[in-house]
Amino acid sequence: MTSYKLLLLPGDGIGPEVMAEVERLIAWADAQGLAKIETETDLVGGCAYDAHGEAISEAAMMRALAANAVMLGAVGGPKWDGVPYDQRPEAGLLRLRKDLELFANLRPAICYPALADASSLKRELVDGLDIMIVRELTGGVYFGEPKEIVDLGKGQKRAVDTQVYETNEIERIATVAFELARKRSNLVHSAEKRNVMKTGVLWNEVVTRVHKEHYPDVTLQHILADNCAMQLVRRPKQFDVIVTDNLFGDMLSDEAAMATGSLGMLPSASLGEADARGKRRALYEPVHGSAPDIAGRGIANPIATIASFAMCLRYSFDLGEVADNIERAIAHVLDQGLRTADISQDGCKTVGTREMGDAILAALDRKA
Ligand code: NAD
Repeated sequence: MTSYKLLLLPGDGIGPEVMAEVERLIAWADAQGLAKIETETDLVGGCAYDAHGEAISEAAMMRALAANAVMLGAVGGPKWDGVPYDQRPEAGLLRLRKDLELFANLRPAICYPALADASSLKRELVDGLDIMIVRELTGGVYFGEPKEIVDLGKGQKRAVDTQVYETNEIERIATVAFELARKRSNLVHSAEKRNVMKTGVLWNEVVTRVHKEHYPDVTLQHILADNCAMQLVRRPKQFDVIVTDNLFGDMLSDEAAMATGSLGMLPSASLGEADARGKRRALYEPVHGSAPDIAGRGIANPIATIASFAMCLRYSFDLGEVADNIERAIAHVLDQGLRTADISQDGCKTVGTREMGDAILAALDRKA
């Protein structure tokens, strides 16, 4: 059996609590002979600053670069509000994204039937929803130059952000989206604003060409990003994979996420360039933060982190079947009426982090 190296960076706040449940899953998969995963653990965020004076040490970065994948819990908290800007906890996360060259952010929006009533949309619109938003993560208006505020005198200033995209940046993100669609329902919506933005015109042109040359078997639809935002709340189940730029992806992925209910349920993956063997650098993490308000109480929802681990098994370790089983176990436990406090519902049993992990393991054991 192939052996994979996984670096665990639990981080701050509830990070170590939710990561502990992933460690139990790794031990379970090993004991069942389903996966051979060698783990190392290191510091990131505020805890790394406390230990080393920086949000991620060189040694931890080297480990991240050497691993097949990295799993991160969460970083930050009020304790580190006063640390210098360059050493703030988030700097560790940004350094990981930059040095691993993670340009593709995958944010699934999955609505488990048992949680459909927690959505702000009607049950029939979201029950069974399964969308993948593919956001370009390293280009666009968040990084384009010039980026400045210029003093014009007489009490006036001018602020400038620059949206820039080059052909290769669009090609590689489109490729990730089409490849994913082939493993799902074979449908890609490409969202931009070609009606008012030159980057939108180029985005549309490049996605169209990549599709024609390499993925004619996948259905491609172009959609204006503002219409995409509307359609996501009007009829979200019309979408399968949505590929879009950094700014629109930031908004659309949060919008899609809310259709599914709670922050404690949302996984994510960030992928880099494929190497000669088709393997990509990758970082998996829950969408939520370190939740300092509940840290240390054993009540955090571990599902977002467990679902991020399932994505790691699927996309980095070629263990799609084990990932499917973990996702089914999560759905089963929710169907049984078990809830952590953040997703509690009348008539359901509220459990803590460890009990939720126990229940998911028990569901997996039954299946095994
Ligand atoms: P947050 O996501 O940490 O928490 C928002 C709310 O959701 C809180 O009430 C929290 O208790 C709840 N929540 C979040 N995850 C939960 C879970 N798994 N189970 C149960 N409840 C959960 O966002 P915030 O409060 O804005 O930020 C807190 C800290 O986290 C800040 O320092 C922020 O900078 C940092 N942060 C880090 C990341 C990251 O590591 N990727 C992302 C967002 C925020």
